[in-house]
Amino acid sequence: MLRAPRGTNDILPPESHKWAYIEALLRRLSKIYNFEEIRTPMFEHTELFARAVGEATDIVRKEMYTFKDKGGRDLTLRPEGTAPVARAFLERGLAGGPLPRKLFYLGSMFRYEKPQAGRYREFVQYGVEILGSPSAYSDAEVILLGVRIAEELGLTGTTLYINTIGCPECRKAYREDFLKHVSDRAGELCQDCRERLEVNPLRILDCKNQGCREAVADVPLMQDHLCDDCRRHWAALQEILTSLGIEYAVDPTLVRGLDYYTKTVFELKWPPLGAQDTVIAGGRYDGLVEELGGKPCPGVGFAAGVERLILAAEKGERPLMPEVSIDCFVLFPDSEDRRIPEAGFKLLVDLRRAGISGDFDALGRSVKAQMKHADRLNARYVAILGEEEVRQGLVTIRSMEHGWQKQVPTGQVVDFLKEEVSGGSS
Ligand code: ATP
Ligand code: MG
Repeated sequence: MLRAPRGTNDILPPESHKWAYIEALLRRLSKIYNFEEIRTPMFEHTELFARAVGEATDIVRKEMYTFKDKGGRDLTLRPEGTAPVARAFLERGLAGGPLPRKLFYLGSMFRYEKPQAGRYREFVQYGVEILGSPSAYSDAEVILLGVRIAEELGLTGTTLYINTIGCPECRKAYREDFLKHVSDRAGELCQDCRERLEVNPLRILDCKNQGCREAVADVPLMQDHLCDDCRRHWAALQEILTSLGIEYAVDPTLVRGLDYYTKTVFELKWPPLGAQDTVIAGGRYDGLVEELGGKPCPGVGFAAGVERLILAAEKGERPLMPEVSIDCFVLFPDSEDRRIPEAGFKLLVDLRRAGISGDFDALGRSVKAQMKHADRLNARYVAILGEEEVRQGLVTIRSMEHGWQKQVPTGQVVDFLKEEVSGGSS
């Protein structure tokens, strides 16, 4: 038997209904916050991610699905959504249009990671980006949308962690200070962090390893090294959040795994998820557009892991249980008298034409088995066409919710059910 590749998921019903539900929720909230959808390709030139996400990051060094196509192009399945959005923003002329531009995306990302609960090789992210605004209100806007998503999913007890990682200017000075401090304790660092010391030292801050944690326990903090502009922005964001009564915790070790971030970084965690408890993560990336060859253009956004949102919602106070039902099951015996199945099937066709969802038993089983099937499909009504009904030109309608049964002339069934399913009578 052939199996799906490791770290991928098949989303089957009823799971797929939860996906449709959550996608609709995300689209509805996008609209409320005025983000418009953008769809970019599933693969890009490898160089885009190398430049935007950064050569020194885990994503680029270890996690990308990179391949050469038959034309010899160096391509990569997108591991994240912000770089492609920024690329399209530049390439398609949005950068020259009205700003800020507010976009959202919803789609698969690919990373070669060790699969585990909440971590897959193909996973879906919903993300938002505001391009062209340096305002701390824009940071607050995306953070508020993230918090709102968690609320709408019934996740109580999420914690919002925020931090600032400054801009390339103030970070340079900080980095030196930081290196001075950590180099002395290089012996205590794990192998990965010893490498990071060379290429990406600030990432040591979020290593989970005990030795590394101790080595950075009393390092100087970025917050204390900010330039004027970064300090003002950091203070402004906290004032906005406080004025709105949004609870947050400052986590000075929060640095994020992508190089393009500047100033604000944040994560929304929901501890009951266990090891992979970050549901939403994002920040500001004021240098990214320029890095990709555009004029300087600030940006801020986040990405949410949709699988994790679903896992969390399932464990939360309001499990995602969208009702799966059909309006009407059309029940008719597989009679020798062809008029009966023909009348039954025609009724089904007419109902569907009228926008009423319906189904029947293609296997022509017994009436009892068909009733069971109707039940399994969670049919709200069953329309029964037996020999007697067809002879009299009637259809027996049974309400599965209320238990009543009525006989309706064949020609009136569609209108009758239309009225019923839209909640006309009971
Ligand atoms: P993590 O620390 O969990 O690896 P990250 O720092 O790599 O996350 P981002 O790249 O910012 O995360 O992605 C944002 C969100 O996307 C994460 O918070 C998570 O919800 C989700 N996510 C990231 N990687 C995966 C994955 N391999 N499988 C499922 N969801 C993921
Ligand atoms: Mg990761």
